[in-house]
Amino acid sequence: MSGNIFRLLHVRLLGCVVATLIQSALCVVSSGMLYGAQAATATLQSLHHPVPGGVAVVALPSTGRTAPKVTFNRKPVLVVSDERQGWVAVVGLPLDITLQTQVLMITELHSTTEVRFEVKDKKYREQRITVSNSRHVSPLADDMTRITRELELQNAAYRQFSPNAPSNVVFAPPVNGPLSSPFGLKRFFNGEPRAPHSGLDFAVPTGTPVAAPAAGKVILTGDYFFNGNTVFLDHGQGLITMYCHLSVIDVKVGDTLARGQVLGKVGATGRVTGAHLHWNVSLNDARVDPAIFIGQFKP
Ligand SMILES: [Zn+2]
Repeated sequence: MSGNIFRLLHVRLLGCVVATLIQSALCVVSSGMLYGAQAATATLQSLHHPVPGGVAVVALPSTGRTAPKVTFNRKPVLVVSDERQGWVAVVGLPLDITLQTQVLMITELHSTTEVRFEVKDKKYREQRITVSNSRHVSPLADDMTRITRELELQNAAYRQFSPNAPSNVVFAPPVNGPLSSPFGLKRFFNGEPRAPHSGLDFAVPTGTPVAAPAAGKVILTGDYFFNGNTVFLDHGQGLITMYCHLSVIDVKVGDTLARGQVLGKVGATGRVTGAHLHWNVSLNDARVDPAIFIGQFKP
């Protein structure tokens, strides 16, 4: 990679290693418990799309050296240190959030303060899909037992909140290939309404390697009824990503992956109409639009 314009420049700053990737304006850092992560202001602002299914980047009134504890709807929130604004919360906004003033709870030392922010509206499109396996549209009773068990496992993975800050908050795409179904599509399978699309699809063939978009720990793998072969990565502080329909899983629970490390290969397992990668990004247990993290957000 040396001599390549995409090479990494490593800079030591405040005892943290800040990696600057020219390609994606990635910034950031793992810095240990004291400083939390530090990210460039422009990088963080690129994530600010305060709509249902989006992300709110909210400056905090905290001036201490230690990151304040922040919760949103009682769930812990990612906090990073912004070079100009100080401590900043990066808040995932669920698709079903109401369009009213929202409140973050900030706890520092022995005091708790509130910070308010607004959520704007966003219209999502509809998608109608024909699925040939009718069990994937109207599962049998036996399937429901399995589906419920698998859902619990996956929901528990999304709720994990490990203390270390993410290595980077702006991602490179996990595969190189065109985007297909966007996040938030209101979906109908064989005419029946189903949950909106919780992730972003890439139209890539079976066998395409899938790379971790940030350093992370493998917290769950499985072969699930809807999602097929699936991997969950914990990037730290509630930033969790999920990769579905894989043909091959190359990692196991407990593995620690570097940014760019391959975790599996694209496939067509689970409820699919063909090979593709379905990618979820979750913040504070809210599934948000992955396009935001790769500079592809469409208002
Ligand atoms: Zn999908």
